[in-house]
Amino acid sequence: MKPWNLNDYDAFFLDVDGVLVHDSQPIEGAMEAFRALQSAGQVLILTNNSTRSRQQHAERLSSLGFSVRPSEVISSSFVVAKTLREMVGPTVVWPVGESGLAEELLASGHRIASKPEGAQWVVAGMDRSIDYRKLADGLRALNAGARLAATNQDGTYPTPEGPMPGAGAIVGALRGMGFDLDVNAGKPASTSYDIAMGMTTAEVARILMVGDRLETDILGGNKSGLDTLLVLTGISREPEIEELGIHPTWIADSLAAIIAGDVSVGNQFTT
Ligand SMILES: [Mg+2]
Repeated sequence: MKPWNLNDYDAFFLDVDGVLVHDSQPIEGAMEAFRALQSAGQVLILTNNSTRSRQQHAERLSSLGFSVRPSEVISSSFVVAKTLREMVGPTVVWPVGESGLAEELLASGHRIASKPEGAQWVVAGMDRSIDYRKLADGLRALNAGARLAATNQDGTYPTPEGPMPGAGAIVGALRGMGFDLDVNAGKPASTSYDIAMGMTTAEVARILMVGDRLETDILGGNKSGLDTLLVLTGISREPEIEELGIHPTWIADSLAAIIAGDVSVGNQFTT
């Protein structure tokens, strides 16, 4: 395998949580590394975080020192809205999630039902104020025949205090009431990657997906034919590569290590 060279890539797809930030705290050296990547090529943000709209993601990242435009953000809130639009056209939804999810659903032309029974789709994402009533409303919609779509199924996301419950906890609660999932929009599904690839002129062989989670960021990137790089500042640890059998092309301790050229081959343990 050829040695690591940043110049082999023209576009970088970056995950956010565990790569750029831990919750609202920038990871050490990530800001400078982010700027260096923007100088080296095109940077697009691929995040499963569905609590914010693209606009809200861009504003928040920019306020944390990562200068990003809304058009450079592919969030699972945007991806699920776009997926439903392409599957069934504008539809009537009942979101179980935070404000960014509703904002993206409306921006894609969907309508939010006035009561749960009026919805064609329950769209579930992370919700830090989930409660019994919200789950009961989701159940009312599903019992009345709505189908279930998820922004993503990440069980947890990394914070400075350790992993916290992710969208998978909310989706799991709805599924636990006896309903199947009809759509899963976020990584590792191909949709986010397909949208991102449509937004760059870089050849597939010259795109690098950088993420902290093997079973989403890296698995999805590999399936889409991209080179992948696992950073060790988030959820996944090196031994899990063998345990899960998901091999990134490259491994680095952090985003900063990528710029320093301190990158090792990810599939060195494969035979
Ligand atoms: Mg992450």
